[in-house]
Amino acid sequence: MQNRLAHTAEHAFIGSLQKIIGKTLTVRKVEHLEYDNLVIIRDADLNMDIIIKAEQEVNSMITQGRRIIVHTFHSLGEAKDQIPNLRANENRIVNNQSIRVVEIEGHDWAACIMDHAANLKECVLFLVTQVNMVGAESEINFVVSDAAKNTALDISQRILNICKETGANYDTVEQTIKKLKQINRIS
Ligand SMILES: [Zn+2]
Repeated sequence: MQNRLAHTAEHAFIGSLQKIIGKTLTVRKVEHLEYDNLVIIRDADLNMDIIIKAEQEVNSMITQGRRIIVHTFHSLGEAKDQIPNLRANENRIVNNQSIRVVEIEGHDWAACIMDHAANLKECVLFLVTQVNMVGAESEINFVVSDAAKNTALDISQRILNICKETGANYDTVEQTIKKLKQINRIS
């Protein structure tokens, strides 16, 4: 259940990243872990600003309730003719075999055989939890639905605790930590 929702949100997320950076991305690997999910993207040239922008767009599409639409084509060629910016792992697709394309309504089109939500609304909340740039690859951890809600609450509690420890408030905490880091470096 969680995997289906996480996987659907991942389609929307990759679509948003593509829109922001203006190129088609290749997902090398997706793992559904016990606590969260990991997507590894090839040659993406991403940074935190891009990732946060994409995260925001996915959540606004969840609120809009974008539908998930499945299309079937006779071949990859036919699919590509009709959808020029189709994402497809071509190594895994046998030529002239019928192909299933999953559309996040008006947003992203990817060849995929896995199960998806019927509507992005089912994902409830999409939250990026960790970003690692490893060489030319971006490793991004994320959570959806109840796991995202629990993570959001946990993050909020931790920030409140950090504010208490440092005497900062929500608006000043980043600046306070930067200052503490600086003082530490000097002494
Ligand atoms: Zn899929």
